Amino acid sequence: MCGIIGYIGKHIAKDILLEGLRRMEYRGYDSTGIATWEESRFSLIRSAGPLDALEEKVSREKLFGTAGIGHTRWATHGGVTERNAHPHRSSDGKIILVHNGVVENFAAIREFLCARGYTSSSETDSEVLANLIAYHYAKESHRVQCSRFLESVRRALFHVRGTYGLVVLCADFPTEMVGARSSSPLILGIGKDEYFLASDVAGFVSRTRDVIFLNDNELVHVHGDDFSIISLNREQIKAVRQAVDWDLSTVELNGYKHFMLKEIFDQPNALNNAMRGRFSADGSTAHFGGLQMSPRELRKIDRVIFCGCGTAWCACLEAEYLIERFARIPVEVEYASEFRYRNAPMDRNSLVLVVSQSGETLDTLAAMREAQRKGFRVLAITNGIGSSIAREADGGIYQHAGPEIGVASTKAFTSQLCLAAMLALYLGRLRDLSFEDGVAIAEALRQLPQQVLEVLKLNDHIRRIASRYQHCHDMLFLGRQSMFPIALEGALKLKEVSYIHAEGYASAEMKHGPIALITEECPAFFLACDGITLEKTFSNMHEIRARGAPIIAVVTDDCQIPAALVDDIIAIPRAHPSVQPILAAIPVQLFAYHMGTLRGHNVDKPRNLAKSVTVE
Ligand code: GLU
Repeated sequence: MCGIIGYIGKHIAKDILLEGLRRMEYRGYDSTGIATWEESRFSLIRSAGPLDALEEKVSREKLFGTAGIGHTRWATHGGVTERNAHPHRSSDGKIILVHNGVVENFAAIREFLCARGYTSSSETDSEVLANLIAYHYAKESHRVQCSRFLESVRRALFHVRGTYGLVVLCADFPTEMVGARSSSPLILGIGKDEYFLASDVAGFVSRTRDVIFLNDNELVHVHGDDFSIISLNREQIKAVRQAVDWDLSTVELNGYKHFMLKEIFDQPNALNNAMRGRFSADGSTAHFGGLQMSPRELRKIDRVIFCGCGTAWCACLEAEYLIERFARIPVEVEYASEFRYRNAPMDRNSLVLVVSQSGETLDTLAAMREAQRKGFRVLAITNGIGSSIAREADGGIYQHAGPEIGVASTKAFTSQLCLAAMLALYLGRLRDLSFEDGVAIAEALRQLPQQVLEVLKLNDHIRRIASRYQHCHDMLFLGRQSMFPIALEGALKLKEVSYIHAEGYASAEMKHGPIALITEECPAFFLACDGITLEKTFSNMHEIRARGAPIIAVVTDDCQIPAALVDDIIAIPRAHPSVQPILAAIPVQLFAYHMGTLRGHNVDKPRNLAKSVTVE
């Protein structure tokens, strides 16, 4: 994935483009570039490496153009070099564009164009799009001027297999801009005398909050001081204008050193937002406005299949424990990337639930489409308002966690866990969960933000612990039952931001293999907050202790853990089992954060990662 931006207006484009790229840098950051229209030509400036390098280059140029495009890349085809950085220009110089996605048939298109005199100067798949549009543009010379540019983009896209979010400029129409999308996000921002196209509202939210989320197979044409939207089949689209309710502070650091830390500390707020207005008046159950399924239909469900990727997959796994325990419905959890190709036999009354923070995760979107193709109803839990998954799902639940900029997911994860607990409560109360048990869970959820604040007070303590382990090369994260998904997430988080090799295991599984890794050099991080299996978890600790490895343990504050068993203790408030995993997730996030920063890494932009993965 990457961030793309386009601007047409009355202000100097380069500043607006750079600011937009800065806010979308989390989407891709291996190379960057901008192109602006300067009187009679495009000025193109690109750079391999972070945005600072581009800014430095741009500062040496005199750029006054008021139209331009920009890109922050997450390379899929071709190395991380200046030549491969976007924007890409057609070899005849007419067309210039930025692209987010993958052109799967780029080799065939390139060959076709090569035979017609178009040459390539990069190894990317994206460059063929510029040449393909230029080819159609040349063919469309008979057309009336105003539709020629748009029509050439539309015709070119008919031949493209793959995914794209595109912003295109044309040298003959420097006050116009064309955007198009298919499976990569693109949003039109409508300002005062100015228009924006970007992969994320964050790219222009400082200038306007008036937006249109484009749908797949739609093209937008900004011309003069107006715009129009058409489908790939040339039908006029009547788009819905919306106002996004973020303000700038949600996409700025506000005094925090990193977005990851800001977002960890934003969790009480994000959890409140996930729960707001979603409890019944009698306090015994939850309800959700957007499920589009009646209680009668939900009672007929005899299996739930969860699909997600990465951290969202860990949230799905926690949902399995919660829904099976409190709603007594069998749950299966699938990697979306596997599910989409596995052709798994499914029961007639299965409900599919997909989880994706961005709502744009390509594998999750594809898994959802596959389930829908088979006639299954799919609900989505997502933070991405207006995202592809949100729009295509049959119903769902918005997280309302606000933008998550840090690449390593934190507040989106706990908000997904919170919604999983609420869903377990709701589904449970449709079945056998009693009024009293429902009230107990709802009450526990209500207390959660306050308890999260208590855990956040342990930040300094956790940093001190991290400083003692910052030089280790391997680490195990262990937990049982509802703590197992948190152990997996803890290992994932540590890998992502500190580059330390970590494995997450169900504690008892350790002796079936990973115990061979245990040495004094391989600390074990225990999530020991599951009441039912606590004694057993202590036994697992003994097994590790006997082999000399240091132990860090997250326990509840009422836990009588033998002092000699652990080296470092992180005591968190005791809570109802439906929300205990959420409290346990916070120390692993803080631990990973401090390990990453102590080792000198930029935790907001871990190497090789992008925020949401919109390629296969
Ligand atoms: N496939 C294109 C490239 O590798 C675009 C990747 C992206 O979305 O950043 O340049």
